[in-house]
Amino acid sequence: MKFTQPKLPYTPDALAPVISQNTIEYHYGKHEKTYIDNLNSLIEGSEYQDMSLEDIIVKSDGKIFNNASQAWNHIFYFFQFAPDGLKEPGGELRKKIEEQFGSLDEFKKKFEEAGATLFGSGWVWLSTDRNGKLFITQGSNASNPLTQGLQPLLTFDVWEHAYYLDYQNRRADYLHKLWDIVDWSVIEMRFS
Ligand code: MN
Repeated sequence: MKFTQPKLPYTPDALAPVISQNTIEYHYGKHEKTYIDNLNSLIEGSEYQDMSLEDIIVKSDGKIFNNASQAWNHIFYFFQFAPDGLKEPGGELRKKIEEQFGSLDEFKKKFEEAGATLFGSGWVWLSTDRNGKLFITQGSNASNPLTQGLQPLLTFDVWEHAYYLDYQNRRADYLHKLWDIVDWSVIEMRFS
């Protein structure tokens, strides 16, 4: 299967100033495209060529895993944002967050901390297990909670390429500002 890069559901300037048009054009337009192009050439003629992206992530390692997971992670990341999305979660997800973390603000603080303290490049995740328990995890490089049997709900990219053009070395500022563009209706849908 040849994987293709989905078109973003907003214009490249729609998330500014949290994520600038320049960052979208480099991060989604070039970095993410490269992962997909690399993956397509790596799997051609291999046992992975007809698998879904999720199956490749769970079953592969090395270069194929890195490119498959980065391809998936970036689509997951960019599609959770909207300029005018739902600003706070409701329903069952809200209840779970408050049960486990005390409040939405406490959850956000812990999530930002996990992103800020990850050494080097990687991702911070909110995931759920089969029983609806929530987990905040951080992982290096192309890590993805699917490999631990968890269902990802939300992720912040903490590779420098995600924020350097807009925030330079201020990773914590970038993480804090991202809440302004998270569309919680997307996260709720991933939880249900
Ligand atoms: Mn990235």
